Formats: sequence, C-alpha cells, structure tokens
Amino acid sequence: ASVKEANINESIKATLKVVWNELKYKSEIQTELGDIPDIRCSPGQLNQVFMNLLVNAAQAIPERGTITIKTEANASEIIIRISDTGTGIPEDQLSQIFTPFYTTKPVGQGTGLGLSIIYGIIQKHNGNIAVESEVGVGTTFIIRLPLEGMSA
Ligand code: ADP
Ligand code: MG
Repeated sequence: ASVKEANINESIKATLKVVWNELKYKSEIQTELGDIPDIRCSPGQLNQVFMNLLVNAAQAIPERGTITIKTEANASEIIIRISDTGTGIPEDQLSQIFTPFYTTKPVGQGTGLGLSIIYGIIQKHNGNIAVESEVGVGTTFIIRLPLEGMSA
C-alpha cells in the first residue's frame, strides 16, 4: 500500500461510508473529528484498521448501542479514540486480544486476526494502540500516531 501525506479524518470518513450499511442496524455513530494535520501514512492500511475496529465494535453491541469516533492532535501526536457501548472485555482477557488467532467468537465468525493485524499496522506507523474496557459498559481503543508519521 502506498505511503503519502494524508489526513486521518478523511480515512475515517471513507471507512464509515463503506461500513455504514453494516453498522446502522446496530449502532448510532457519533464522530468528533478534530482539526488534525496531515501525516505521512499508509491510508489503505489505516482504512483497514478503522474498518476492523468498527466491525469489532458493532459485533460487541448486543442489541443497539453507540459507537463514538474522536480525533485530536497535540504538539507531538494524533490521538484517535474509538469507543463502543458493547459488552466490554473481561480484565483477564485484555492482555490476549492482540494475539494472533485469539477470538471469543463462534467458529466461522471470527479469525482472531483483526487486532493482531491492526497492532502491526500501528507499529509500522511508529504509533501505539491501547485498550480500556469495562464489562457491561463498553470498550475504547486509543491509537496514538506521531506527527512525523511513518519512517521514510
Ligand atoms: P475477531 O474479531 O475475529 O474475534 P479480533 O482480533 O478482531 O478477532 O478481536 C479479538 C477478540 O477481542 C474478539 O474475539 C473479542 O473477544 C475481543 N474484542 C475486540 N474488540 C472488541 C470490542 N470492541 N468489544 C469487546 N470485545 C472485543
Ligand atoms: Mg475482528
């Protein structure tokens, strides 16, 4: 996938257009896209990150809920938060979710590869991804990407 100067907000909007038809039955979508600078990144790979996080969020919502996407920048990094009002993740599972093939979904519904692929893509962007979750309340994934973006 090609590396270029691009705006993460555009990547999020493009991904939302693609997954909207799947998400709308499960969730309200709230976006708070801040004023963030372009960074050197792989938009194709970042679309994959947002796609996977949004599908996971929708799948974690039992009946109907809310997914919130926020972006902001500070002096050194862009911060992206994707939150859902889904089932949440038990504390003893939090350390496993980025492991390849770890899934709690029925056979055929989850490969357990999504978050491990996301982790790799964020590493390539010199960023990091963290998760905060509370069972019965919901989950937030927090991605931090340095303004310098991907290395040359
Ligand atoms: P898959 O979606 O194929 O199961 P992932 O790597 O995307 O694989 O996610 C791994 C596991 O992490 C999921 O099976 C689920 O248990 C947990 N998980 C990921 N995202 C969420 C979320 N938003 N809410 C609750 N659990 C989640
Ligand atoms: Mg997944």
